[in-house]
Amino acid sequence: MALAVDLGGTKIEIALVDTTGHIVALIRIPTQRERGPDKVIDTIIDCAKDCISNTNIPVECMGIGVAGQIEKDTGVVLFSPNLHWHNVPIRKKLQDALSIPVIVTNDVRAATYGEWLYGAGKNIDDLVCLFIGTGVGGGAIIGGKLLEGHSNSAGELGHLTIVSNGRKCTCPNSGCLEAYAGGWAISERAQEIVTNDPKEGQTLLSLAGSTNNISAVTVTKAYKLGDPLAQRIVQETAQFLAAGVVAVVNALNPHTLILGGGVIQGLPAYISMTDQLVRSHALKAASDNLHIVKAALGNKAAVIGAAAFARHKLRHH
Ligand SMILES: [Zn+2]
Repeated sequence: MALAVDLGGTKIEIALVDTTGHIVALIRIPTQRERGPDKVIDTIIDCAKDCISNTNIPVECMGIGVAGQIEKDTGVVLFSPNLHWHNVPIRKKLQDALSIPVIVTNDVRAATYGEWLYGAGKNIDDLVCLFIGTGVGGGAIIGGKLLEGHSNSAGELGHLTIVSNGRKCTCPNSGCLEAYAGGWAISERAQEIVTNDPKEGQTLLSLAGSTNNISAVTVTKAYKLGDPLAQRIVQETAQFLAAGVVAVVNALNPHTLILGGGVIQGLPAYISMTDQLVRSHALKAASDNLHIVKAALGNKAAVIGAAAFARHKLRHH
């Protein structure tokens, strides 16, 4: 058995996962990041101890996926915008308290690992995952190996530039894929259009109550009602998404490209729209045998992957 943690800005999921990727137990608690890193880590330790004492099967390790950049080998969270953390030695603190090996990785990377071993990427050695949630995250398995990069930051596909000098991103760059297709960006783009033309935005406004409340979810709802403006926003979003996917596909030539995350789960039609655009824009050699599919593990991919990744790391060290 392995303990797995998915640590995000709003919630923490702690699970016991067996060697077949099956979740045996799962607890979900609010992160309450305003309490600071030490208190958040203490909560994880308490829950982990509960999990360990409630099972008869020995727990061999803990894998933890964190929304942020993780220093290779030390498991220090260098920076997490969602948690507002800088240089937090989470691995050391957890290991000292729990006396089991702890492996820290990026949460999206963990989810990619999960989809590869147990989800939509099973038995495929070249795949890319793109998760469109509030932000856009990615991960790549190339030649049967998780791409980590020199400083452990490979796979940040949300920050591919798709428009030079485009919309401001949350990173230092402008024009990133995330700044157009991430949930926050869809919301921002929709709000701008509605501010400029409230009449055109009638449906969005009535669904959300006010311009500031218009979110990616509002756009999806209005799209399903057949609202012309929402249809335009969705089509444009699919075009931005396809621009990112074309870049990824041309650069990495995966066998399968897996799309997941809240925005895709809310509107799976994004997959066929993107697929069609990618076929006509990507290099023929890169796209002829390409499969674009929906993620299979939903929001459980990160815990399932974090557990498997921890086991893999321990076997190879
Ligand atoms: Zn960016």
